[in-house]
Amino acid sequence: MGARLCYNAPMHYDIVILGGGAGGLELAAQLGRQLGRREGRDKVLLVDRSVFHIWKPTLHEVAAGTLDAHQEGLSYTILARRNHFGFALGEMRALDPVKRQITLAPLLDEEGRAIAPERQISFRWAVLAVGSGSNFFGTPGAEHAYVLEQAQDAERFRRHLLAAFARASFSPQRSLGVAIVGGGATGVELSAELIEAHNELLDGLGKGQRFRLDISIVEAGPRLLGGLPEKISGQATTALERKQIKVMTGTRVLEIKPGALQTSQGEVPADLIVWAAGIKGADANTTLGLAVNKANQFIVNEHLETSVPGIYAMGDCAACPWQDGKLVPARAQAAHQQASYLLKVFHGLLRERPLAASFVYKDFGSLVSLGDNKGVGNLMGGLSGRNFFVEGLLAKWMYISLHLMHHRAIVGLGNTVVLALARLLQRRVSGRLKLH
Ligand SMILES: Cc1cc2nc3c(=O)[nH]c(=O)nc-3n(C[C@H](O)[C@H](O)[C@H](O)COP(=O)(O)OP(=O)(O)OC[C@H]3O[C@@H](n4cnc5c(N)ncnc54)[C@H](O)[C@@H]3O)c2cc1C
Repeated sequence: MGARLCYNAPMHYDIVILGGGAGGLELAAQLGRQLGRREGRDKVLLVDRSVFHIWKPTLHEVAAGTLDAHQEGLSYTILARRNHFGFALGEMRALDPVKRQITLAPLLDEEGRAIAPERQISFRWAVLAVGSGSNFFGTPGAEHAYVLEQAQDAERFRRHLLAAFARASFSPQRSLGVAIVGGGATGVELSAELIEAHNELLDGLGKGQRFRLDISIVEAGPRLLGGLPEKISGQATTALERKQIKVMTGTRVLEIKPGALQTSQGEVPADLIVWAAGIKGADANTTLGLAVNKANQFIVNEHLETSVPGIYAMGDCAACPWQDGKLVPARAQAAHQQASYLLKVFHGLLRERPLAASFVYKDFGSLVSLGDNKGVGNLMGGLSGRNFFVEGLLAKWMYISLHLMHHRAIVGLGNTVVLALARLLQRRVSGRLKLH
């Protein structure tokens, strides 16, 4: 049986999931496995603008060249075939809440030639899981910074980083400056991973070609990892400073210029600048006829339903109420819990017994990778309801296990073990750093 990758329209599906990321893909795979094909057709359709899936929390590794996106990526077409859902490649261009129809933009190849025309897909229920992009908060000069929104962004940064590495090893100064704006998990993990990549590279370079890597993390708030407990923030700062990373807290970026950041503490020169300071929904979210907040996220109720009944939103693109007037944080953990909740919602809807229970986000803590087989974080809840601090190798293993759990939800336990082993063996043979 061939994969059901659909280019042609019009089509109708009971459930259309837009976006196959951390949350959307888990939901599509689990719904597909449970509902399967009925009356000779798929009940569930997943739409994504990319042909392959990569778990977004690994993008800093792709950017540093320590993870190969093409080896790590999972083809949506194959996942669709194995999990019994349909897959449509394309970018959502419009959504008509009244006709209950989405429009996908025409598909073009790299040279801009048409592959498939604009397509319409109608649905009974839809789930928006289109994730988020970067929030520059109006800072001028955004075009001079790299972002890590999609695999292509991380790949582009990796290519330019390799060129910059080569340039630095031939330069009279023998140094390369990288400035990372934003001291959240992405900025901290990226800086640690860049140090790993640099160390790996230095191992293979002759003495005369070695160069210094100067990394600065610029954070407007008073400490790194501002959303996490102070103890974690302190440990992360110490670990990064030990790696000679310059941590500049309480520093606001006023402008991004080619080769430098203009900050409230003066100019920070940098050959490469990465913006990792905040997230925002796509501007297109405001044009779909659904209520959105200031960050372009779809406003949802306690059942994850948007302002239009039968259209749900989850993950980073959803503004979901949590505790003390706060929103559920934009994390893979939240997207995963929302996917599990929506699975129950659809079971109820299909049996005409709507689920009464509301979505309740449970914060199980956070883990941050600090390179060198080290991590730091906290685990919350458990039987005693206490908050545990974890660090070192244990924290790193727990961090890796989150990725494995995501794979387990989409490819099953056996395939996850095979994939993990294959990755380990590949690293042993080819080395950690992707240089080509
Ligand atoms: C470098 C980095 C490190 C991170 N580390 C962590 C971490 O350690 N722990 C943690 O909990 N979270 C982490 N996060 C955050 C986490 O990745 C997100 O919260 C999570 O991926 C959100 O899941 P999602 O399903 O909402 O969106 P995503 O995973 O971003 O998926 C969105 C999907 O929608 C598709 N899409 C978007 N727009 C369209 C469109 N118009 N048409 C069709 N398809 C579309 C995209 O191609 C993508 O596949 C990290 C993020 C980054 C960038």
